[in-house]
Amino acid sequence: MSHMSFQPRGAEVTADADYIVIGSGAGGAAAAVTLARAGAGVLIVEAGPWRDPEDYASSTYGALRDMMDDWGSTITMGRALWPVVQARLVGGTTVINSAICVRTPADIFEEWQQGHGVGAPAYAERIWAWQDMLESELCVAETGPEAMGRSNQLALKGDAAAGYDGHVIKRYAKGCVGSGQCLQGCRSMKKQSTNLNYVPETLMRGGSILSCAPVDKILFDGSKAIGVTGRFLHPQTRAKGAPFSARAKLGVIVAASATWSPVILRQSGLTHKAVGAGFRSHPGTGVFGVYDEPVDMNTGVTQGWASTRFRKDPGLKLETLSIPMEMAISRLAGGGRALMERIAGYRHIAMWVHALRARSVGRVDVGWTGRPVVRFGLDEADMRRFREGMWRVAQLHFAAGAREVIPGIVGLPYSLGPKEVDAIATGPLDPRNYVAILSHLFGGCTMGADPSRSVCDGDGRVHGRDRLWVADASLMPDNIGVNPQHTIMAMAMEVATGALRGGPCP
Ligand SMILES: Cc1cc2nc3c(=O)[nH]c(=O)nc-3n(C[C@H](O)[C@H](O)[C@H](O)COP(=O)(O)OP(=O)(O)OC[C@H]3O[C@@H](n4cnc5c(N)ncnc54)[C@H](O)[C@@H]3O)c2cc1C
Ligand code: SF4
Repeated sequence: MSHMSFQPRGAEVTADADYIVIGSGAGGAAAAVTLARAGAGVLIVEAGPWRDPEDYASSTYGALRDMMDDWGSTITMGRALWPVVQARLVGGTTVINSAICVRTPADIFEEWQQGHGVGAPAYAERIWAWQDMLESELCVAETGPEAMGRSNQLALKGDAAAGYDGHVIKRYAKGCVGSGQCLQGCRSMKKQSTNLNYVPETLMRGGSILSCAPVDKILFDGSKAIGVTGRFLHPQTRAKGAPFSARAKLGVIVAASATWSPVILRQSGLTHKAVGAGFRSHPGTGVFGVYDEPVDMNTGVTQGWASTRFRKDPGLKLETLSIPMEMAISRLAGGGRALMERIAGYRHIAMWVHALRARSVGRVDVGWTGRPVVRFGLDEADMRRFREGMWRVAQLHFAAGAREVIPGIVGLPYSLGPKEVDAIATGPLDPRNYVAILSHLFGGCTMGADPSRSVCDGDGRVHGRDRLWVADASLMPDNIGVNPQHTIMAMAMEVATGALRGGPCP
């Protein structure tokens, strides 16, 4: 097993491999293990550090410090400044996500075919075949009743009364014990994040990894990608370390996420206007329900219930999402005694959320510091649907027996009773009145049949370049309305299989 972490300033570190994979998250790890299983020599180059589960922080502060991309400070540059949440460590965002596993719906491929000329039926069949394999290898299962916790049980009860056709979520978790810590990393090693399976397997099969090694540029010989360069970066002090350069005999696969992959391509000289374009997302937000009996949402699985009934119309996914007290406090308004009383009620609140399949489209540019600048906002039609999502979540709380809801919308009362809930449905349409985050990101290096409107072809190969592929969320030509990890991993395996077929240039 070969792992090199941060190297202090000094001589350049060099490496070589058949394939270099940039990033080790959902897409990167899936691509790397596919290449390694075929016998190829793989070097993963990952910007963040390697963290073992026993070293995961247990607080939100620690997770922001140790796991997130620049302390989670990326925000949308639009009318509202909403956080764009992504991890930066070996395993990428799979380390801090909720491990929800949803197969790609058939209508998504039909839309991709109609709108972008990619995703033919044979492609869809191959993606589902990869998903069969992933489900078996990553132990996908419904959370058992013993790990559900009260918040998820209340959602099931509300669902039965409201008729939202919900279900117990399937997740990449083996024997989840319901510690409610998914967003800080699973210290009990139940969640199947890629740092626990596909990255180590790649190394066991002869591959290597450079961690704390953000790639600055891809190197080319003419149109042929032949390697990468960068400089080690200390994960705590942010001190710059030694330069590194790595050579790829057979190709480079970019899987640094929907925000970073376009930046790397652009910094490497790909100036086409499609690079960074087509950025999409599922902005999400939550509504607290306040219950007479204790809910204790910090016990039980982080996300255990979901409804996809509104996925197509109006484009919403509803879910439970338990958050730790310090995150909940940031959503409780007020100060002094009033705030203390609200915090004292933490045991009685449940947080449920919606994610909107937004139609608004943004773009990712390179900022003056070399970091991604995410230009994205919701138009009025999206805001109407976003607002409806909050109303539906609030209705579900009341169906489950909540005494009141705390919507967290500027301009509305702090809490609303069952008879006042329609105030949400007619609430403000200015995104600045809402607290939301972007955690499902898509596009920026989109695939498409038309090279003038897309970055990659239907196999993830970058148009006009040789031996260069993209294999992460940035490849997706549209958002999909369901949790994306399963689709990203399957697409990355498909891209890597195509890269293996591609072989050396003549
Ligand atoms: C809080 C949260 C919860 C979520 N829950 C779910 C869920 O339950 N189910 C689901 O399906 N999806 C979920 N998601 C979304 C899902 O995790 C992401 O869509 C998915 O991980 C994206 O995969 P990716 O490979 O594109 O990027 P990532 O998984 O983010 O991996 C990108 C990797 O590239 C590295 N990198 C970045 N820049 C460079 C560089 N310059 N050089 C080298 N490496 C670099 C990063 O450090 C990172 O490791 C969640 C997301 C968040 C934020
Ligand atoms: S709920 Fe706890 S045990 Fe279950 S996967 Fe999440 S962190 Fe791990």
